[in-house]
Amino acid sequence: MRQWKEKIDTPNLIECPHCHKLILPHHVCPYCGYYDGEQKVVVVKEKKKE
Ligand SMILES: [Zn+2]
Repeated sequence: MRQWKEKIDTPNLIECPHCHKLILPHHVCPYCGYYDGEQKVVVVKEKKKE
């Protein structure tokens, strides 16, 4: 069984300090809207039509 070097193998991505998802550096996190420790964008969750 080979072991993966790291589960994160994407050098162009960083981990969001807020939600810990991989995001582009120097960009507002598309998942939680945080950037540089502040919420810059309010992420609105889409509601599914029933
Ligand atoms: Zn985030």
